[in-house]
Amino acid sequence: MNILLLGSGGREHALSWKLAQSPLLDKLYAAPGNPGIAQHAELVALDLTDHAAVVTFCESNRIGLVVVGPEAPLVDGLTDSLRAAGFSVFGPSRAAAQLEGSKGFTKDLCARANIPTAGYVRTKSLEEARAALKDFGAPVVIKADGLAAGKGVVVAMTMAEAEAAVDDMFDGAFGSAGAEVVIEEFMTGEEASFFALTDGATIVPFGSAQDHKRVGDGDAGPNTGGMGAYSPARVLTPELEAQALSQIIAPTVKTMADEGIPYSGVLYAGLMLTEQGPKLIEYNARFGDPECQVLMMRLESDLVELLLACADNKLSSIQPPRFSSEVAMTVVMAAEGYPGTPKKGGRIDHIPAAEAKGAKVFHAGTALSADGLLSASGGRVLNVTARGESVKAARDAAYVAVDAISFPEGFCRRDIGWREIEREEA
Ligand code: ATP
Repeated sequence: MNILLLGSGGREHALSWKLAQSPLLDKLYAAPGNPGIAQHAELVALDLTDHAAVVTFCESNRIGLVVVGPEAPLVDGLTDSLRAAGFSVFGPSRAAAQLEGSKGFTKDLCARANIPTAGYVRTKSLEEARAALKDFGAPVVIKADGLAAGKGVVVAMTMAEAEAAVDDMFDGAFGSAGAEVVIEEFMTGEEASFFALTDGATIVPFGSAQDHKRVGDGDAGPNTGGMGAYSPARVLTPELEAQALSQIIAPTVKTMADEGIPYSGVLYAGLMLTEQGPKLIEYNARFGDPECQVLMMRLESDLVELLLACADNKLSSIQPPRFSSEVAMTVVMAAEGYPGTPKKGGRIDHIPAAEAKGAKVFHAGTALSADGLLSASGGRVLNVTARGESVKAARDAAYVAVDAISFPEGFCRRDIGWREIEREEA
């Protein structure tokens, strides 16, 4: 079968690597892809906002499955256009992707389905928002309703910070994404990411992970897209996972189906493990980046079979996914300046030497020149991913590979997995 993979990050390189291992694959295309993805796929220049052009490409190249990596094409309804043209697509419809695209939509769904989550007020009025802040008191969380690339959330420790955040959002700091805001009760606990594949009826758990959002060691500095991750997240014990499945994921999938907007694809739940059990922080309608890299590193099943079954409503008829019992860790190497303005063009060498040490190096923001030189072209540049018997062993293997890479204008955190390693050593 021919497959078209959409996206250009480390997440999509990991997906392409795993898709390429499947005996079901004839030819993999990727749009727009990156130099790492090009090792497994033919890259095609397609404007993903031009749905007709994507459909025409699929028709001309007998595409049997389209795999959508990032959220923007989902929220833009590309999957609807492809399905309407008769193609199998891994990824939710535009309506179902509101689980990620509108925080208010998700909170209202949680309220209707009795799903554990933070108490909230959803409003388009500055006065109402200010009143809600008074009711909740500090600390309190303020969120722009729409997609804001992970930057539309303010966890305010004081009322002054909270009021400033609300004023900023209504002043248009996040454009239309902040025309409506959600004010939320502050939850305490450890965070974990939990993934499930669903075709709208059947749900299969697809592993867990923890990531590191802050740019600096010790979880210091500004938020990023993620500086590293590991899987599984052992804090999400089998009991807590079962609770998350039955109290959060299952009622979400059922309510969406009952209300005529069945969710199909991967459902990525950001969980807060509170004293009262797991509570939903947010949903994403696609794999996490870099969480996908560690899931793919552990996945032993055929990814094509799984994603196709998901797309074609046949998840109940295949074997559930199998994962290695080993831990996988990924360390993000970023370009100087990230998450502000990253320095472009930094030279990268010795990836083969790093891979010879047993790691897998996924490309995110890289560019390959005509004479074969690799350089940085984005903020997050490489995802150095390794496996081990423990988090510490996976970390050691990942950093041995990081240290084999030459990227003088890059940096990485040196403490990915610290929380779990402290627990391992306790
Ligand atoms: P992401 O980049 O993870 O997609 P996002 O912008 O979609 O982020 P959320 O995941 O909802 O936003 O929130 C970002 C972070 O803010 C969470 O990972 C969590 O640390 C914190 N947070 C969000 N909501 C709450 C809450 N109610 N209580 C405590 N912390 C919260």
